[in-house]
Amino acid sequence: MKKASLRIKITVWFSVIMMLITAATFGVILWVDYSVIQKTIQDNLIETVEDNVDEIEFYIRMDQEEGEHNSDQYIRYEDGFLEIDDDFLDQVNGISTALYQETGELLYGENLLAKETAGYAFSDRTIQNIRTNGVTYYLFDCALSANGIEGLWLRGIVSENQGTHQLKSVVRISSVVLPVLLLLAVIGGYCIASRAMKPVHKITEAAARISQGRDLKQRIHLGEGEDELHQLAAVFDDMFARLEASFQAEQQFTSDASHELRTPMAVIMAQCEYTLEKSREPEEYEEALQVIQRQGGKMSRLIEDMLCFARLEQNRNVYPKEPVDLSGLVEDICKDMALLKTKGITLTWETEPELTLSGNHMLLSRMLTNLISNSYRYGRENGRIKVHLYQTASDRILTVEDNGIGIPDDQQERIFERFYRCDSARSTEGTGLGLAMVKEIAEYHGGRVRVSSEPDKGSCFTVCFPI
Ligand code: ADP
Repeated sequence: MKKASLRIKITVWFSVIMMLITAATFGVILWVDYSVIQKTIQDNLIETVEDNVDEIEFYIRMDQEEGEHNSDQYIRYEDGFLEIDDDFLDQVNGISTALYQETGELLYGENLLAKETAGYAFSDRTIQNIRTNGVTYYLFDCALSANGIEGLWLRGIVSENQGTHQLKSVVRISSVVLPVLLLLAVIGGYCIASRAMKPVHKITEAAARISQGRDLKQRIHLGEGEDELHQLAAVFDDMFARLEASFQAEQQFTSDASHELRTPMAVIMAQCEYTLEKSREPEEYEEALQVIQRQGGKMSRLIEDMLCFARLEQNRNVYPKEPVDLSGLVEDICKDMALLKTKGITLTWETEPELTLSGNHMLLSRMLTNLISNSYRYGRENGRIKVHLYQTASDRILTVEDNGIGIPDDQQERIFERFYRCDSARSTEGTGLGLAMVKEIAEYHGGRVRVSSEPDKGSCFTVCFPI
C-alpha cells in the first residue's frame, strides 16, 4: 500500500513539474513568437514605406518626365507636379501608406485611421505606437527629400494584430502538441516509477516472508544490476545469509550444550539411583560421590564456558581492557602448569621480557591455560610442551607447541568450532569449547589464532596480537 502511494507520489510530483515546465515553455514560445512577429510587422512597415518613397518623383514640367508611364498618377503640387509610380503600394500586407503635406493634408493614398492619426506629428523614420479601440497600431513616417521636394511625408500604418493568425496557428499547434507530450511524459514517468519500485516491492515481500514464516532461507534474488536498489537487495541477501548462519549456529550451540549437559546429568542420576537402591559400604558411597563430583565439575566447567561466551558476545563490559604484562602472565601460568607433570610431560617456556598488551588479564590467562591444557591432554607419555612469547615488527606472538597426537588436516579448521572434538579426543575429558574460547578471546583482543599440526608428530598453536 505504502509502495503504491510512493509510486503515485513520484508520478504526481513529476507530472506537476512537467506541467509547470510545459506551461513555461508554452509561455516562452508565445512570447518569443509574439516578439518576432511584431518585429517582422515593423520591418515590413519600414520597408514598404521606404520602397514607396522611391515611387514618388517631383517635376516642374511635364516634359521632364522620361518614358511612358500611362498608368502613373500625377498630382499638382506647388509649381510642378508629383508623379506617383504605378509601383506605389498603398495597400499591401495590411500596411496602408499615404502621402501627406506637412500640414497634415492627404494628397494621395489611403489611411483608414486618418482621424486617429491626425494628432500625431510627423517624425522622420521612427516607429510610433497608437492605441485605439483596444488595438495597437504602428505608425512610420518618412520625409520626402529627393528632387528638391520639401514638406511632403509618407506615412505608413499597420495593426499589430496583422500577425495574429500566425500566432493563433502557433497556439493551436502548441495546445495540441504540448499536452500530448505532457501525457506521454506522465505515462513514461509512471512506468519508470513503477519499474523503480518493483525491486522495493520484492525486498518488502522477502522481508515479510521472513518475518511471518521465520524462514531465514528466503532471499530477494534481484538478479543482475548495478543500481542502488540492486546493491540494497544484495546487502539484504548477505544479511539474511549471515542471520541464517548465526541463527543456525545459535540453534546448534543450544542443542549441543543441552546434549553435553544431559550426559553428565544422566550419569549423576544413574549413580544416585544405583547407590540409593540399598545401604552400601562407606567406600561405595565415597566412589559414588567421586563420580558425582567429576560429572558435576564437568557440568560446572561447561556452564562457566557458556556464560563466558554469552558475556563476550553480549556484555563485553564484564571483561574490561587494561595494560597487561603479557611476559609476566605467560611466565606465571607456565610456572604453575609445569608443576602438573601429567603423563610425564615437560613444559618449558621462553618469553621476551616486558611485552605488554591492552587486554583482559583473566581472559588472556584462560586462553593460555586452555592451550597448555590441550597440549597436556593430547600429548604423548613423557612428551614435551614449549611455550614461546616474542615480538615481531607487527605482532606480539604466542606459540604453544607439543609433540602429541596431532590433528588430521581436514579437521584443523573445525577444531575452533564450539563443541567440535576430533574422533581421537572422544575418550578424553573435555567439553569441546576450549579452542572456541581461545579463538573468541584472541578476536576480543584484535588478534587471531591458527594451528599447524601433523598427526602423530604434534601441534603448534599460534596466537598473533597486532601491535
Ligand atoms: P576439548 O575440550 O575436546 O579439548 P577443544 O575445543 O579444546 O575441546 O579442542 C577441540 C579438539 O581439538 C579436541 O577435541 C582435540 O581433538 C583437538 N585438539 C585441541 N588441541 C589439541 C592438541 N594440542 N593436540 C591434538 N589435538 C588437539
